[in-house]
Amino acid sequence: MKHEQQASRPEEVPAPLGQRQTRQREAIGRVIEAATGPLTAREIHARAQEEMAGLGIATVYRTIKLLLEAREIKGVVLPSGEPRYESAGRGHHDHFLCRSCEQVFDLGCPLRMARGTSLPGGFVVEDHEVTLFGLCPGCTAGATQGKATST
Ligand SMILES: [Zn+2]
Ligand SMILES: [Zn+2]
Repeated sequence: MKHEQQASRPEEVPAPLGQRQTRQREAIGRVIEAATGPLTAREIHARAQEEMAGLGIATVYRTIKLLLEAREIKGVVLPSGEPRYESAGRGHHDHFLCRSCEQVFDLGCPLRMARGTSLPGGFVVEDHEVTLFGLCPGCTAGATQGKATST
């Protein structure tokens, strides 16, 4: 998608820099879009570098801020760990945090609880964010192999 400069301030961003920023933004947006779960800035940096060698972490942080402001991505706050980011258009889903490799995966919704559900004690549910903890498929396979040889 082409991003037009504002007509009132055409000279503030020189064209080459603007084009470079657009490419960085697109690459970082693609990384977040393609991910199977919310990513930390460092994970985004590592993956975007495969496409844009020499991409700096400061650029990643700056671009994340721009994408947040444009509401193309949103922050995900999990009970532990650093801030993560995911595509804004994914709709409701919950997360699985692997305590071994510390990757976070998108889940469907394991908690079937509609908005407006009343709980005992007079609590009315408006929303929820569930984070499940455990081992991801890759780490489960590793743990099973480990058990075969040790103890
Ligand atoms: Zn894992
Ligand atoms: Zn849910």
